[in-house]
Amino acid sequence: MNVLPNEKKSTPPWPWWLAGVLLFLFALAADLAWRLGPELLNRRNYQPTLDLVSPIELAALPTATRFDFPLGTEHGAMAYNAQPFTENNHLGDDLNGIGGENSDLGDPVYAVADGRVIFAREGGPGWGNIIIIIHAYPEAGVRKYVQSYYAHVQTMLVTPAQQVRRGEQIATVGTAGGKYLAHLHFEMREFITPFVGAGYRKDTRGWINPSEFIRAHRGAADDDVGRAVE
Ligand SMILES: [Zn+2]
Repeated sequence: MNVLPNEKKSTPPWPWWLAGVLLFLFALAADLAWRLGPELLNRRNYQPTLDLVSPIELAALPTATRFDFPLGTEHGAMAYNAQPFTENNHLGDDLNGIGGENSDLGDPVYAVADGRVIFAREGGPGWGNIIIIIHAYPEAGVRKYVQSYYAHVQTMLVTPAQQVRRGEQIATVGTAGGKYLAHLHFEMREFITPFVGAGYRKDTRGWINPSEFIRAHRGAADDDVGRAVE
């Protein structure tokens, strides 16, 4: 068959229904952005990547050669543990001032070792304010990482990305907004990523007995007094 050079292929006309669908999708996206925008931009609802610890930051962490208790004296005296690690599936220790009840409300909470703050904000219902610090420490010639986790605190004196020294006051003991008698829920974890946990869990993999860890890594004689920041 002979095809004429000026013969055009007939193109279908612009489907107007498609324009309608596109307009509908655009309106839907705009509506969702308008309604969900404030929630999506709310920093409390997601974990900002700024808080994640990069390999460079891990490498730059000071080596913590010594750990102290976060409440009372650096030996852990003048404080008692009302609910030790694993009791009732507890993932931490509940540290209290020896006066009992709310006598320790507002007492200083100290960084257990040199490190970097990777989380400092409200942790949601049941938690109140939470501070997480990451530490690098040597064990059998290997550089290891550990998190210290301080919950229910009243006042937070540090912010994420801040470097802290052992013995530096980072917070005050609180009640998680009146939910409990004042105490410090204190965890030690093998994780690097900052996250708010459950507080109680049967499976304790990743969590360390906090008081046991501190006692094993005091690195100081028991007659060493003073919590001076070096
Ligand atoms: Zn607790």
